[in-house]
Amino acid sequence: MDEDLCVCAYLLPVDTQTRLEIFIHHKEYPKTSNTGHLAAKILKNSQLTLRRNKTDSEIWQMGLLEKAQSENASIYFLCHNPLGKTIAEALSLDAKENSKRKKILAVVDGTWNQAQQIIGQELGHLSPYSVKFAKLNPDPICNLWREPLPGGLATLEAIWLALLEMEPHTNLDAVKNLMMARSHRIKWVRGLLSEHEVFGGIPKKAKGKKNIAG
Ligand SMILES: [Zn+2]
Repeated sequence: MDEDLCVCAYLLPVDTQTRLEIFIHHKEYPKTSNTGHLAAKILKNSQLTLRRNKTDSEIWQMGLLEKAQSENASIYFLCHNPLGKTIAEALSLDAKENSKRKKILAVVDGTWNQAQQIIGQELGHLSPYSVKFAKLNPDPICNLWREPLPGGLATLEAIWLALLEMEPHTNLDAVKNLMMARSHRIKWVRGLLSEHEVFGGIPKKAKGKKNIAG
């Protein structure tokens, strides 16, 4: 199964101005469907933290606030709180204050509800740092779920979309390609795509093997 899903060839390091700080539950981290850890692997300017308990959430958030303060960086907490600012609104506020300020994109790997809960526990539900997308694509690229939640996005896709808005001049194609390769391979292994439909093809080692669809 592992070599079928291997996307090592797509892990071409991408340099971004924005630093990604990603928080992943330790039980989600090893799952094949987890895409958050791939974001941390491909983005050079990133830091992954594993969550084991509630205390870890507090430590993570306090650490973020400290880093933001010491580096004079702005935090963009992607939690899709409907009452929060859009990324574009946060960017324009930031640009008014200091256009050269560093940015930290903070992402909780999980559902939007989980992200809002984690942020809400420490920073309050309407944290000044929380940002949302102006609208969510109802037909995401990385659609890995049999019954997708409305507005649900794979973590890697959410990060890619946020970075596209936050730094439009950075080439993020490698992130998109990684996302396509991974999601297509998972779908292929599950029998939802045939071999020739898989983005970039399937790994040589996996060729000729029967997938679920036979
Ligand atoms: Zn590999």
